Amino acid sequence: MAETKTAVLPAPRPRVLAMKEYHPPLGNRDALRLDFNENTLACSPKVHEVLGQISAGALTRYPEREPVEALTASHLGLSAGQVVLANGVDEAIHVLFETFLCADDELLLPVPTYTMYEVYASATDARVVAVRAASGLQFPFESLIAAITPQTKIVAVASPNSPSGSVATRGQIIDLARRAPQAIVFVDEAYYHFHGETVIDLVGKIPNLFVSRTFSKAHGLAGLRIGLMAGSVELIHWVRRVLSPYSVNSLALACLPAALDDSAYVKRYVDEVLAARAEFESALDAAGVRRWPSRANFVLVEIGPRHAEFVQRMRAAGVLVRDRSSDPGCEGCVRITIGTRGQMRHAAIALEEAITELRGRRRTD
Ligand code: PMP
Repeated sequence: MAETKTAVLPAPRPRVLAMKEYHPPLGNRDALRLDFNENTLACSPKVHEVLGQISAGALTRYPEREPVEALTASHLGLSAGQVVLANGVDEAIHVLFETFLCADDELLLPVPTYTMYEVYASATDARVVAVRAASGLQFPFESLIAAITPQTKIVAVASPNSPSGSVATRGQIIDLARRAPQAIVFVDEAYYHFHGETVIDLVGKIPNLFVSRTFSKAHGLAGLRIGLMAGSVELIHWVRRVLSPYSVNSLALACLPAALDDSAYVKRYVDEVLAARAEFESALDAAGVRRWPSRANFVLVEIGPRHAEFVQRMRAAGVLVRDRSSDPGCEGCVRITIGTRGQMRHAAIALEEAITELRGRRRTD
């Protein structure tokens, strides 16, 4: 049918008009994927087996989230009312912001951090108050405390943080929640398994604490889209009200119990990544590449003004890495996901060659 011409097309909300486009570089990734902090191998074979058993009939039903939510909560030592499952943690963050952020509210954000916080906040009428990382890209506890105002509504803390790999301590989180009782202190534990420290046990005990976990990283289920948000019953109940009852598909719900159950698989993968990280860090040191200490499955490195060329050279060598140079305080920096020792030995060789080339060639620009 021919397109009908209209004089004026409907406009989105002014906030949406002002939003920046965000296109993560997801194309052409048929290489060693050290660019999105994913599991670089596979999910647990037990999870894969569940997927293979899903019948055609099962797909005709709408997914029922509650029983799997209850199971997940008990796995975490929480009550069913304290946990909500979502289509990845991204959706949980989106819905959290939509649920709580009003005009004149402030979202307190230590930066650099995970990009999607700012993207989702920019679709609300709230103001983002960015607080620069402390020296060495450490968690800016003092400046965050100083930035709290009566308008502070959410403080979003990724711990471990991306792209730096730095962490907030348990004491700092507790203090933050105490000093901003009018706000939700949201701790994003996407990389928890690589760090091993959590505050999820404090959910419910600290009424304004929210904690999220994803199954996209250590569990290797980024494609399935499943994550959780935990918080006190009184507050999470509002998030549940906004979230679609069907947001988590039945494949993800069917797989989650097996994913939770196979903790041995996650431990094996995490142990491998931690061993690989130590080896890769030594290789970086030997190559004279500055790096930041990381508690996650990635390392931020400083390449310098030729960061884009470095990323291209790595890609040509079959290794995808992520340019983070435009993140605040990360000029010239690139983030490299840690995979297995074998993968990282390959990456280290590619890195050494790329660095040698960059150092050897005179700049013509
Ligand atoms: N939080 C952080 C800190 C992340 O790095 C990511 C993934 N890049 C997410 C959340 C998103 O997780 P999910 O895949 O569950 O949406």
